[in-house]
Amino acid sequence: MDEDLKPCPFCAGSASVNYVPFSRMYGEYRVICRQCGVMTEASADKPEVMKMWNRRADDETVLSVASLHGE
Ligand SMILES: [Zn+2]
Repeated sequence: MDEDLKPCPFCAGSASVNYVPFSRMYGEYRVICRQCGVMTEASADKPEVMKMWNRRADDETVLSVASLHGE
């Protein structure tokens, strides 16, 4: 459960925090919409990416749409 994440500003889908480990000691979090795939930038700080997502959910003009194309 990823509590305290606002719905996606584009599709109103639910978002989740994903953790990508680069090594045993280091990895990065990012919040990704489960429905349309928009995501925040990555950070090693989980509360930071959650804040980033919620801030962007309040202001959709700054949300990256890069992930909507490609991949
Ligand atoms: Zn979405």
